[in-house]
Amino acid sequence: MRIVHKQNLYQLTILPRLFPVNCYIYEEKDQLTLIDAGMPSSYKGIVQMIKDINKPLTNIVLTHGHGDHIGALENLKQTFPNVIVSISERDSRLLKGDRSLDAHETQTPIKGGVPKGLKIEVDRLLIEGDRVGSLEVYTTPGHTPGSISLYDTHHDAIIVGDALQTRGRIAVSGQLVRSFPFPALATWNKEISLESARRIISLKPSLLAVGHGNMIEKPIDPIEKAIKEAEENLNNVMKGA
Ligand SMILES: [Zn+2]
Repeated sequence: MRIVHKQNLYQLTILPRLFPVNCYIYEEKDQLTLIDAGMPSSYKGIVQMIKDINKPLTNIVLTHGHGDHIGALENLKQTFPNVIVSISERDSRLLKGDRSLDAHETQTPIKGGVPKGLKIEVDRLLIEGDRVGSLEVYTTPGHTPGSISLYDTHHDAIIVGDALQTRGRIAVSGQLVRSFPFPALATWNKEISLESARRIISLKPSLLAVGHGNMIEKPIDPIEKAIKEAEENLNNVMKGA
């Protein structure tokens, strides 16, 4: 497990070279929040890190319902039975294997692996504006219909799940990065992802933390570049180029 510490965030990465999957521990004065739960093999490293920091884990927040963000969840809930597990109301359906779309949603298929027969119940369903400790919930759909980002109200860091990737290069969800195409292939809707990327940059984050790839400090210029690229690609598609 590779660990990188920036501001109040610990980034925990398994398979950093081959297939990097991140989760994050957000440290507050008297508590810890885990953001995403990686793969099953992330479990040990997460528990060790919590021990090392030596503060209680009070919350686990899932940025979205894909399998590579909830792998260690069941085991963690067993180890920390009082932890409050939360996900957006919309993506809680994915945790039940329900890929159905609502009538008002863009009718493109929800992609990516979702859990089958998850044994635990989510404790809290999140909507826009909710707070988990010092983290504020912003809806940033596109990768999945219920993807959320968490904004650190103290330091302006933002944890966006797979709304952006930085592995290979920085890209808006749905834009294919050949050296690491998996987030793009698992994306529900590229246009909505682009809108969410604009939303993320409007918050002027000081630190960008994603599900796949390294954290980026002062990320505004790189995110702008990724937005431009996505805009050009989507315009070309519309023109039939
Ligand atoms: Zn994903």
